[in-house]
Amino acid sequence: MKRGPVIAIDGPAGSGKSTLAKLLAKELGFAYIDTGAMYRAVALKAHEQKIDSDDENALKDLCSTINLYFEAKANANKIFIDGNDYSEKIRTPFVSRLSSKVSSQKAVRDAMVRLQRLLAAKGSVIMEGRDIGTVVFPDADVKFYIDASPEVRGRRRYAELKEKGENVSLDTIIAEEKVRDQRDSTREHAPLKKADDAVCIDTSNMELQDVLAKMLKIVKEKLTIGNTHC
Ligand code: C5P
Repeated sequence: MKRGPVIAIDGPAGSGKSTLAKLLAKELGFAYIDTGAMYRAVALKAHEQKIDSDDENALKDLCSTINLYFEAKANANKIFIDGNDYSEKIRTPFVSRLSSKVSSQKAVRDAMVRLQRLLAAKGSVIMEGRDIGTVVFPDADVKFYIDASPEVRGRRRYAELKEKGENVSLDTIIAEEKVRDQRDSTREHAPLKKADDAVCIDTSNMELQDVLAKMLKIVKEKLTIGNTHC
């Protein structure tokens, strides 16, 4: 059976891809799947169970026993594991660091990729992460790679965390994001990289609405949405 379109959005931390993916999904009426939240939730669950991020066997067991799912609630996608809401508590610098370590384990990636493909089986979905256009959906209908300079990305992350009341310094955030991006893009399995056929957008000096308009235009062209062919 033919599935609906899949739009893949990849890029480093703080590039703006989550905000853009959500806005694009709303605009197009597509489902939105934040794969980073999945790795974050698994990382935190592992930590709660005192599983080391290097212990691939234990992580594999964990992934095969947990029930990880999303629920759409009041304008937001919440992520749950075994009935517990992980949506808020995974948004800390500690979980950012941990998720980057846990996600480098092949067993974890295999489990998450399987789930991601199931979640998007019907299509009409925007999936956001690091390896969506390269590994999860190499045949995605539209692929974007969203980037920005390390300073701009660091400042965006800093503002997000400050708003949530986290006590962080800008320099620390920039340094930590650099370490995370380095680990994510040099790991053995499914490293962060631009798919050859992805449209790359550098958002460093662009307004959000301008990036969104550009993405919408590309999506509509590629999917010929709005074109009526007799
Ligand atoms: O996107 P976010 O910052 O929430 O992702 C958290 C971590 O999850 C990333 O640093 C990365 O290590 C991992 N991740 C991944 N593959 C994805 C999405 C996220 O490895 N598709």
